[in-house]
Amino acid sequence: MNSLHQFTAEPMIAYFSMETGIRNDIPTYSGGLGVLAGDTIKSAADLKLPFVAVTLISRKGYFTQEIDTSGWQTEKPVAWDPAKFMALLPEKVKVRIEERDVTIQAWIYLVESPTGGKVPVLYLDTDVPENQLQDRGITDYLYGGDQAYRIKQEVVLGMGGVRMLSALGFHIKKYHMNEGHASFLVLDLLLRFKRDIESVWDERSVWDIARVRDLCVFTTHTPVEAGHDKFPYPLVQQVLGEIIPFDVLKDLAGKDHLNMTMLALNLSKYINGVAKKHGEVSQMMFPGYQIHAITNGVHTFTWTCEDMAKIFDKYIPGWANEPELFVRSGNIPELELWEAHREAKKKLLAYVRTATGHEMDPNVLTFGFARRATAYKRMHLLFHDVDRIARITEKGKLQIIFAGKAHPHDENGKRLIQGLYGFRDRLPGKIDIAFLPGYNMDIALKLVSGVDVWLNTPLRPLEASGTSGMKAAHNGVVNFSVLDGWWIEGHIEGFTGWSIGAAATSNVTSANADNEDAADLYDKLENIILPKYYNPDKSAWARMMKSAISKNAYYFNSHRMMRRYVTEAYIR
Ligand SMILES: *Cc1c(COP(=O)(O)O)cnc(C)c1O
Repeated sequence: MNSLHQFTAEPMIAYFSMETGIRNDIPTYSGGLGVLAGDTIKSAADLKLPFVAVTLISRKGYFTQEIDTSGWQTEKPVAWDPAKFMALLPEKVKVRIEERDVTIQAWIYLVESPTGGKVPVLYLDTDVPENQLQDRGITDYLYGGDQAYRIKQEVVLGMGGVRMLSALGFHIKKYHMNEGHASFLVLDLLLRFKRDIESVWDERSVWDIARVRDLCVFTTHTPVEAGHDKFPYPLVQQVLGEIIPFDVLKDLAGKDHLNMTMLALNLSKYINGVAKKHGEVSQMMFPGYQIHAITNGVHTFTWTCEDMAKIFDKYIPGWANEPELFVRSGNIPELELWEAHREAKKKLLAYVRTATGHEMDPNVLTFGFARRATAYKRMHLLFHDVDRIARITEKGKLQIIFAGKAHPHDENGKRLIQGLYGFRDRLPGKIDIAFLPGYNMDIALKLVSGVDVWLNTPLRPLEASGTSGMKAAHNGVVNFSVLDGWWIEGHIEGFTGWSIGAAATSNVTSANADNEDAADLYDKLENIILPKYYNPDKSAWARMMKSAISKNAYYFNSHRMMRRYVTEAYIR
């Protein structure tokens, strides 16, 4: 790498994320959080923002998913070589872990936009010769290992990241924490700005909390209490030692455990959730803090398939760097849009055939469902009443393509995937079901562009935002989804897609939610979606596709999201 000078001349926004999904062959992401980070970085580059990103190298990736003939998931480490994509910078920084010095180096990857904007991404790596064997593996497995492994990774990310930025000569005017994994960065800032005075009346006044708060922005991503990292203080003591007095730390990060979310909440001037509803839910979870909302978006160019891009180039030139132009989607001829979609669908079905040996019919209404295999996402809801779905599909055929990984330690999640294979065996000739193993960014693009309807069935209000439905909209694929996360904002019934179950105004989750949601799903599938899809005149369907583009892709893109981060979080 020739020189970082072009980036160190002006103050920058530093964006910290444990996982980052910039491209499919850099496997340092597990799912939505990482892909969002990648989209954020790409939009920052397109918009020429002064932006640098910090993440972990995850040399063994998250994992490669394999599915055996019984439908059971097994995991393999991902083998990839950072040197194929990035350059190793010579600068070295250290953090103290278990009273050892752990040396960190950074790989640099430059995201370069066709606009000329550039964003450096620093991938922190502890696999350096100075380190003892046990420390060389700290940056190997994304979300792997035990709590001690996780806290060490977070020390490397947060404290190591801040030190690396300084060593490289960056001037940082805001630190943006993408989820609480990076919260330890505030500890390093507290140490850096420690006042050189001994106040007799209050020892705590040496910690310049206000100054650190002014520098920090925090985005929270999970409305599930268990989703927030918490570490017992004895573990903190063992790994970090008492780098700032424990009574001060406990005031900032929680009495009983070190809660990474609380640490970030207490030391950030601007805090936000990732959709309006999620902002409200977070506000209830964290009373006493002001929680804003900036609804997520996806990177328009990345998440538009080739066939759609051709149509957009023809009728909406300039769309990729100015997604607001989607407001003009009305100009696209309906049948041309439909044909472009047919092409994308054929490509997806060809991929399904090579990946699974499964032959699917391009003339059949095709649903897609791809997300982490975990209970609240309810990937079995379509099969809630097997007899009913079998009867409905006698009136018009349906096929569905699934994908998604279960966390390696999540046996229940693996059983959900296996359950899909069970439904396939119980519904032969009724519904064709395919499962694509190894869900990743490439498969995601094929899926969200090649199916006809994107299905999402989370248990409310547990879907913070969801972004795959926004990707679908960029390809004219309509959403059929529970009113949660972004869909509350994107949904116009019968126009951008359809809702499933209760209105978003109802805050209580009914004990009967599965029955109610499944009943609504079946009613709409039978009476609205199937008849509309199988109408020989495709223009009504294509008009909905256009609305998905002009109402949803127009708004739920990461360019709009980044402009809001700039005006509401970064320049304050
Ligand atoms: C977009 C994406 C996700 C996130 O999708 P959600 O709808 O938020 O669940 C997860 N994994 C991959 C590979 C993606 O591309």
